[in-house]
Amino acid sequence: SKALGRNVYCFFEMSMNSNVHEQLQLVHDLSMALERNELILQYQPKFVAPSGPVVGVEALLRWQHPVRGLIPPDAFIPLAEKTGLIVPIGDWVLDTACGQLKQWHDAGRETWGMAVNLSALQFTHERLVHTVQETLARHDLAPQKLTLEITESTAMRNVEESLRILQQLNNMGVRISIDDFGTGYSSLLYLKRLPANELKIDRGFVCELAQDSEDAAIVSAIVALGKTLDLSIVAEGVETAAQQEFLTSLGCGSLQGFLLGRPVFAEQLIEALAERDAS
Ligand code: C2E
Ligand code: CA
Ligand code: CA
Ligand code: CA
Repeated sequence: SKALGRNVYCFFEMSMNSNVHEQLQLVHDLSMALERNELILQYQPKFVAPSGPVVGVEALLRWQHPVRGLIPPDAFIPLAEKTGLIVPIGDWVLDTACGQLKQWHDAGRETWGMAVNLSALQFTHERLVHTVQETLARHDLAPQKLTLEITESTAMRNVEESLRILQQLNNMGVRISIDDFGTGYSSLLYLKRLPANELKIDRGFVCELAQDSEDAAIVSAIVALGKTLDLSIVAEGVETAAQQEFLTSLGCGSLQGFLLGRPVFAEQLIEALAERDAS
């Protein structure tokens, strides 16, 4: 009945705290964000240590919300993951990033690769391998130019399943990077079995590197591990010259961070790199 409807409505209205209400609004907005063209990518370069050349760029998603302004990924990707919206959003990210890389290749940056982050739901989605293959073909890109970044905790959630998926991607020729490395509880035994190409040392270890001898020891161990297992090592979150020097002296192959280059929109990247080279 109408009365009951109103009561139910009142019940929800009163019991819902503004936080839940906000979340629901956000889910609704997010479901419209793709068709409204509100999603946008920034790109952050990765450099050969200590300071160049550029080996590739990482695509980082932002949401240009009409009311709230630019929303960072940590504020909506968990929600996108929970609602399944991350799958169409992830497809868009992959397609857009590959299209952009193709443009940069055509403009003379053929050596660059593109790195795209995958959340757990995308990684285990049955269509992933097919989607990646299709996207690379659509943009006429060699699979070796694409790196898929998955976090250590995603990779270790279900090791046998991860191995199966990573093997398929590896067979295709796509590069695999284990992101936020050191924050999970990887068994080194499993790591040896994973067909990965790159480890990204988590920002948390890089941050205190110059002051904290334990962090320095961990980074040093990861670099040694990378050498043994023939994996590229990238340090993320490099903000100071001291960190840059320390990481280089430890033998870390690639660096990424605000010191060397912040994430910027595609149109600004070439200019930002030119300014950096000139200074
Ligand atoms: P991540 O993959 O670990 O990305 C690195 C984050 O550190 C980025 O934050 C980047 O802007 C930031 N960063 C880079 N250099 C520095 C530095 O020197 N200092 C500091 N303090 N921060 C630095 P962002 O862009 O906010 O992304 C946060 C996370 O959101 C990413 O962490 C990634 O897990 C996720 N993410 C971003 N884009 C996507 C996407 O397209 N798909 C999925 N599934 N996840 C994404
Ligand atoms: Ca990443
Ligand atoms: Ca990371
Ligand atoms: Ca991180």
